[in-house]
Amino acid sequence: MERKNAWAKYDEAGLEKIEAFAKAYGAFLDAGKTERECVAQAEKAARAKGFAELKKLVKEGRKLAAGDKVYVNWMNKSFMAMIVGKAPLEAGMNILGAHIDSPRIDVKQNPLYEEADLAYLDTHYYGGIKKYQWVAQPLSLHGVLCRKDGTRVTVAIGEEADDPVFYISDLLPHLAQEQMTRTAAKAIEGEELNLIIGGKPVADGEEKASVTAGVLAILKEKYGVEEEDFLSAELEIVPAGKARDVGFDRSMIAAYGHDDRVCAYPSLQAVLDFEGVPAYTVCAVLTDKEEIGSVGATGMNGRFFENTIAEFAELAGASGSLALRRVLCNSRMLSSDVSAGFDPNFAGAFEKKNAAFLGRGVCFNKYTGSRGKSGSNDANPEYIAQLRRILDDADVSFQTAELGRVDLGGGGTIAYMCAKFGMNVIDSGVAVLSMHAPYEVISKVDLYEAYRCYCAFLRDAAPVD
Ligand code: MN
Ligand code: MN
Repeated sequence: MERKNAWAKYDEAGLEKIEAFAKAYGAFLDAGKTERECVAQAEKAARAKGFAELKKLVKEGRKLAAGDKVYVNWMNKSFMAMIVGKAPLEAGMNILGAHIDSPRIDVKQNPLYEEADLAYLDTHYYGGIKKYQWVAQPLSLHGVLCRKDGTRVTVAIGEEADDPVFYISDLLPHLAQEQMTRTAAKAIEGEELNLIIGGKPVADGEEKASVTAGVLAILKEKYGVEEEDFLSAELEIVPAGKARDVGFDRSMIAAYGHDDRVCAYPSLQAVLDFEGVPAYTVCAVLTDKEEIGSVGATGMNGRFFENTIAEFAELAGASGSLALRRVLCNSRMLSSDVSAGFDPNFAGAFEKKNAAFLGRGVCFNKYTGSRGKSGSNDANPEYIAQLRRILDDADVSFQTAELGRVDLGGGGTIAYMCAKFGMNVIDSGVAVLSMHAPYEVISKVDLYEAYRCYCAFLRDAAPVD
């Protein structure tokens, strides 16, 4: 059985809607190259749509009623938005989950050094990258430096047309005879990812002229930070530049960070755009740290999600720990992350009947994991049957897929972490080419089908018998 391409079903008006959604998504990507920048945008958008901060309502001792809208900004790195439904909360929620961190290169804690009249920041990569893909191209620097006095400086350098960019060098082919014999995993090694940030020596009083002194003077003057402030900084190096249309027909988007903002954006948007009072409480959760195992206080394996639902449930009339357990275990979730798009260049990595194709709509992975489904959340067929009905009724194009050929590798995301509460969860998402590369490619129609899928799911998903 082959799934149809999704483009064909759209008329002129439909194609315009796809384009408008893709454009808004592109703007979200351009302004959201880090988890913090995504949370800032999400919070702004939620407030504009009348969502109130849960923390404030808790403090005021307010109760929640059907139709009330709330959001949570957790440490500026994870975000949730909810709308209270008509049914009691203990009947469970319809939850959309996705992550907003992306593979990248982080700045080390003690990063600054000088070598051969060039100033560098030493780095430590984040997530599963092919290191050789990140050299010899313009890079930007995003993040925060936190001063001892409690103030915080936010930077995003390298995105504006007149901004400087940063750069990691590669060896010229003329001298690369030895390098070219290394395996791809070692063509560029972790300690070779050193970011060039300056090259003009400046005299520092009595001292000999140095490039780092010059760079530090600029950091002091422009941003009011000292070298010591790197100790308490979170600086992320990402490709500089904006999302771009791909192809003569402009059917695709190349950008940094589709993984997993291509699921996070439509998930959030589906909740923010929800009209009227939902039958069941709806929720979007955008999490951090997925690329390194969903660890930490802002990752899905932490308690942030559960704690938030506990606070929310208390205000919405589902009080106590048994009620909280019912809320969670009776919920339905689409845990969304990018899927490996079938790539004809590397066809051997896929099993074609069970691969995700660009343009064939939103993907569902009953299971992920590796080897014998190890580490996977294997979704219940009863739940999948309900989803098929919802999507067919809403004329949403969808496909089912596995992450590549059996035993070739594998992966997983946040589904199994939510499944531990006892809820019905399935991995879903959008197919991407060159996942984890500095520039990844998705199809605009898949993005739009994901959004339509999320809207239909929030409206129609119900307890599973
Ligand atoms: Mn992902
Ligand atoms: Mn990933």
